[in-house]
Amino acid sequence: MARTRRRTRTLDPSYRRILCISAHPDDNEFTIAGSVGHWAREGRDVVFCLVTTGGAGTNEHTRDHTGLVPIRERESWDAAKILGVKDLVFLGYEDGALEPTLAMRRDLTRVIRRCRPDVVVSGDPTVRWYGSEYLNHPDHRAVASAALDAVFPSAETRAIFRELLDEGLEPHKVKQVLMTGSLQPDTWFDIGDTLALKCAALHAHVSQVGPGKRIDGMLRAWARRDGKRAGVKYAEAFRRFVLDRG
Ligand SMILES: [Zn+2]
Repeated sequence: MARTRRRTRTLDPSYRRILCISAHPDDNEFTIAGSVGHWAREGRDVVFCLVTTGGAGTNEHTRDHTGLVPIRERESWDAAKILGVKDLVFLGYEDGALEPTLAMRRDLTRVIRRCRPDVVVSGDPTVRWYGSEYLNHPDHRAVASAALDAVFPSAETRAIFRELLDEGLEPHKVKQVLMTGSLQPDTWFDIGDTLALKCAALHAHVSQVGPGKRIDGMLRAWARRDGKRAGVKYAEAFRRFVLDRG
């Protein structure tokens, strides 16, 4: 049987700054951490923007979940260190209750104008469920939707959120968007060298995944599935938008 032609790609070397926007502290470790590990090893600056601090990540803590927030913040830093992520930005929204509001779009626009990334990585706001076993979390959809709207048109348009100009934040045009979790992926990154790093980073979220290796098997199975389509052993899949070829 003919082997699938290798379809993985690497990021353009000129793209130095990458901003990954997600709802929860461990979302990136579940989805894109293999690619992130590569980008960091290549010397690119990767920043994670986490819209919530994951206060609803378990049912076992205090009534207002504040007991969990500092733990998840610390775990996020531990995971970031493993991956070589340069910085974390927490927006402090309430876990489990996100909507793609104008306020969220403004906050994400502020982060984009501050970080001035070449590439923004986020989720797919259109996916309501995956297969017949996972209903996509509403927070994921809300953040993905606000993130795309922040990339375009808000971050690059002077007349939108003029108050950000008063903060010294000039418009910024993002060159590429990489969308994780898309049902129509068109871009794959080989994570054969970084799958172990991805697993280690996810394990840093101790309050969520606990000890044991069962979760590694799940990440490996996902990577193998995406690798199959990409013609490599392990991959992560994205849908790519090129907004500026300059
Ligand atoms: Zn999540």
